[in-house]
Amino acid sequence: MNHPTNSTTMSHRTNPTTMTTIAHTERSSDLYGTLTFGGDDMLKRLPPEISMKLQATMKLGKPLDPGIANTVAAAMKDWALEHGATHYTHWFQPLTGTTAEKHDAFLHPMGDGTAIEKFSGSALIQGEPDASSFPHGGIRDTYEARGYTAWDATSPAFILRTSEGHATLCIPTVFVSWTGEALDKKTPLLRSIEAVSAQAMRVLKLFGTDKGVNQVITSLGCEQEYFLVDETLGSERLDLVVCGRTLLGAAPPKGQQLEDHYFGSIPADVLDFMASAERKLFELGVPVKTRHNEVAPGQYEIAPIYENANIAVDHQMLVMHVLRSTAREHGFMCLMHEKPFARVNGSGKHNNWSMSTDTGVNLLDPRDDTHTNMQFLTCLCAVIRAVDLHADLLRASIASAHNDHRLGANEAPPAIMSIYLGDMLTDILDQLEKGTPKKTMKGGAIDLGASTLMALPRHASDRNRTSPFAFTGNKFEFRAVGSSASVAWPNTVLNTIVAESLDVVATAIEKKAGRNASGAKLEAAVREVLKGIIKEHRRVCFDGDGYSAEWHAEAARRGLPNMASTADCLGALDTKKAKALFAHYGVLSHRELHARYEVQLEQYTKLITIESRTLVQMVNTQVLPACLRAQAELADTVAATQSAGVECADSEEALKDVVRRVAELRAATKSLETSTEAQKGDAAKKVRYLRDTVVPSMQRVRDASDGLERLVPADLWPIPTYADLLFLGR
Ligand code: ADP
Ligand code: MG
Repeated sequence: MNHPTNSTTMSHRTNPTTMTTIAHTERSSDLYGTLTFGGDDMLKRLPPEISMKLQATMKLGKPLDPGIANTVAAAMKDWALEHGATHYTHWFQPLTGTTAEKHDAFLHPMGDGTAIEKFSGSALIQGEPDASSFPHGGIRDTYEARGYTAWDATSPAFILRTSEGHATLCIPTVFVSWTGEALDKKTPLLRSIEAVSAQAMRVLKLFGTDKGVNQVITSLGCEQEYFLVDETLGSERLDLVVCGRTLLGAAPPKGQQLEDHYFGSIPADVLDFMASAERKLFELGVPVKTRHNEVAPGQYEIAPIYENANIAVDHQMLVMHVLRSTAREHGFMCLMHEKPFARVNGSGKHNNWSMSTDTGVNLLDPRDDTHTNMQFLTCLCAVIRAVDLHADLLRASIASAHNDHRLGANEAPPAIMSIYLGDMLTDILDQLEKGTPKKTMKGGAIDLGASTLMALPRHASDRNRTSPFAFTGNKFEFRAVGSSASVAWPNTVLNTIVAESLDVVATAIEKKAGRNASGAKLEAAVREVLKGIIKEHRRVCFDGDGYSAEWHAEAARRGLPNMASTADCLGALDTKKAKALFAHYGVLSHRELHARYEVQLEQYTKLITIESRTLVQMVNTQVLPACLRAQAELADTVAATQSAGVECADSEEALKDVVRRVAELRAATKSLETSTEAQKGDAAKKVRYLRDTVVPSMQRVRDASDGLERLVPADLWPIPTYADLLFLGR
């Protein structure tokens, strides 16, 4: 197949015929949440006593009363039918990291030739999908199939519509095995959210700020990076279709050197796509707010306004789903992979996380006189302690074959978990360590030098792009999460380790000051406890350049773990420390945690194996045949030139070079194939083997192929090049 580099009709993007962007006469606020059933809209459709019971669960975190199911189901069904839904599904998040659904029709034949639409309370609250076909990490045997989904009333149901209008009511649920063990990502997330709340409430009680507060909410806002490539070109590459990333491809003459893409003007066709995706997300109640070009060519970002973490996680899954499906409607392929292109920036997901009371007070807001805000400083120190003590778990929570390309691979952010605090907080920690903090550094103002421009207020701290875990104003931004990952697991880990630290801190303060202390006595106890934490755990704080070699050396001196690859860090999930932690806070039993360890190992193995086999197939069936054609052309040229009696040492050299490179590529590919199929041993052993043998072997194949790509005539090269994918039509 001749690939279309030289053709003029490269792009097959078309404008969708259906109205997908917001029309001039429409307001986005009118669209917002029209396809969700939750919150006030749902409550309005229910009798007051049912509504009150449901609100107690949704807003106050009280147990769900099963007696309300039939009434809620009837209201939900009516609403869904009004919106054209024909089917419903329990929508859940198995350990695959994606979402799962099994649709049932509302339609119910009556046996007399007629049919009604039926949706009972029991169908709302419980489903029974086969549990053995989902990853279970040893919790279930293949013959032990029974699993349950159970309604999560705290996350709104929603309607997903295809571009042709088929509508399905999706009900967010958890997914557990017949034994009651969690087989999904939502169950432990919900448990971890409750753990944070319970421990944070203790801190509020100590400071007497718990009046009228029912629970502490973890809030979450996730910035999502992604690439867009032309779908027609993308689908010509098996690696993009099967693995979501390019396994081959020589560097284009222009990459991201000119830094002309970041925040550049958004191309019109991309903007149309974004507007169309945003419209759908508005309808689904996802409060998307920000869009912009990212650093790499073809790379973009979307970010919503933060929400409570459980809903934010569900909405994050919807963001990924809507981006991918809308991209196809616009003739794009949306690449969410952490590293779709070598030598070009990868994609991440910035996980903005905070805790606030249900009355709206952000516990991580330092406020003006931060040095007097002991409650904030207590929460801050608890997070510092958590990240230092459990850096291994945090690192493991974001580990995947995909994310190995970013973390530990000279790219943002590094694999060493450290915290950026900025000048103002660093200064207060210094003061606390020495005694009583007396002042809060101010940022002052920036004089812009022209009298017509206002002076700008300056933040007391700069930003730091290289930190994996940065304090950004009134929240922590965990930047090391992979762009294709579900954010449920990293947040479960984050919540659990912070819950533990809040527990330890609250207990220590209570012990020193007594439960009902206040005033100077309480302050003195708090200062003493925080001082101890700062002394012990401050080594995890680092405000400098996280990419630099100096930091790697300094981190090693400080004893901070630097786990460059998945193989290095997954063991953290299988330690006594981790088991005790997750079990103590009721987030995961030993077996449930072990299952997650096994599943993460298994996923790594499967992914690398698939990538390797894809690469072998592409080389054998596309790259090598193209190279042999190039070789034959060159050989013909040499033969023809020589038979014409003309000396052509140059062409002979070129031919020899191609022959040598082809032999190298063939040998490297053979060796890759053999090593991939030779995996053995237990899951952890396979992961190490793949990292040490197969991954480097894939790199050798790639190097050989990329070298040939620079020599083989463009009309013979069988797959779209980096330049085609990254720049075409831009
Ligand atoms: P950037 O990191 O690019 O500067 P923003 O400051 O706009 O981005 O914020 C990024 C994300 O952080 C947004 O989703 C925003 O809603 C979220 N965010 C802001 N405040 C909080 C908070 N208190 N808790 C959690 N997320 C928050
Ligand atoms: Mg950010």
